[in-house]
Amino acid sequence: MTAITVLGSANMDLVAYVPKAPRLGETVTGREFRTVPGGKGANQAVAAARLGARVAMIGAVGADAFGVRLRSALTAAGVDTCGLRTVEGASGTAHITVDDEGGNSIIVIPGANGLVTGLESGDEERIAASGTLLLQLEVPLSAVAAAARAARAHGVRTVLTPAPVQPLPPDLPDAVDLLVPNEHEAAALTGLTDPRQAAAALLERFPEVVVTLGAAGALHAARGQEPYTVPAPRVRAVDTTAAGDTFAGALAVALGEGRPMREAMAWAAAAAALSVQRPGAQDAMPGRADADAAFA
Ligand code: ADP
Repeated sequence: MTAITVLGSANMDLVAYVPKAPRLGETVTGREFRTVPGGKGANQAVAAARLGARVAMIGAVGADAFGVRLRSALTAAGVDTCGLRTVEGASGTAHITVDDEGGNSIIVIPGANGLVTGLESGDEERIAASGTLLLQLEVPLSAVAAAARAARAHGVRTVLTPAPVQPLPPDLPDAVDLLVPNEHEAAALTGLTDPRQAAAALLERFPEVVVTLGAAGALHAARGQEPYTVPAPRVRAVDTTAAGDTFAGALAVALGEGRPMREAMAWAAAAAALSVQRPGAQDAMPGRADADAAFA
């Protein structure tokens, strides 16, 4: 069993389904409201745990009812939450409006996630005890950088999903082994809309890059190697929420198990393709047996 530590966010997604999103000053009546555990950190942790890794989560939830539910969603997926602190104040929330066209608008309030500013007691040991550290950018960069440095010091592979895109501290790329942006993030980081060009530009800062391309699969680029694309299975997508988090979690699991990159990407694409065929985020993530069956 491969061991993975995730340092990142846990949010409660508060989703309002409306025929048409309200304009400024307007009030509309919606159809339905759902609360769904999310946050890129928690999503990647659940994805990896479902797929058979031993996963520990570092982060924070608030001392509120959402915090209790966010923790129990992780625990139910088998994630070790000893490094998930309960802090004073509100849990992170994402206020999402989805209209009948499937268009959405989102307000994220970091809440407790904003208080994850560095490593705390036991965190370095958690990272050192794992083979892979999974990072995203929904907690303060100071914590992301500290975790990446700890991983580097202990020979732990670091995989970073650079979302939401923001300027990175100059020394962070040195501590990251693999960058996994989607094509929009790759474009925002480089100013280049062509994924191949963006990946090539990212190689100036990162040693290895996998750009996810939605239904078109994923592109691999590494210094001194020819880039290649791994296709995604053709499926009917009903909800692509957290497809990228499923892909990143699965990729970390496969690489942690020592599988070669191309095979790891294809397995991650199989897992992500399963997730887009079901509604929801964490609820839609496949278990190990399903991912292996889809890959075979
Ligand atoms: P994000 O969810 O971050 O926007 P992508 O849309 O690139 O990221 O999706 C991540 C991965 O999920 C893709 O590389 C692909 O393997 C898989 N995926 C996403 N959308 C589809 C789809 N419509 N059909 C099959 N696989 C998909």
